[in-house]
Amino acid sequence: MAELANKYPENVTGTFYVDDQCIDCDLCRETAPANFTRNDDGGHSYVYKQPENDAEAALCKEAMEGCPVEAIGSNGAE
Ligand code: SF4
Repeated sequence: MAELANKYPENVTGTFYVDDQCIDCDLCRETAPANFTRNDDGGHSYVYKQPENDAEAALCKEAMEGCPVEAIGSNGAE
């Protein structure tokens, strides 16, 4: 499970975020390219835009559920 305390600082504020367990596998960026992108220097993903509609939210959730190391969290807005 992703830890809010360990999220990367590049994540924009809001519900979804990537934490430091990310292994840069690319799945979230392929699944939800409108919201996830890569930090090329750090070699990991982060959320550059929170979902703005139901379709994007569904893809972010799908990415979260598919992440092999559970590095994506959805409790960032709490
Ligand atoms: S799916 Fe998970 S491990 Fe893969 S790039 Fe995204 S956050 Fe990182």
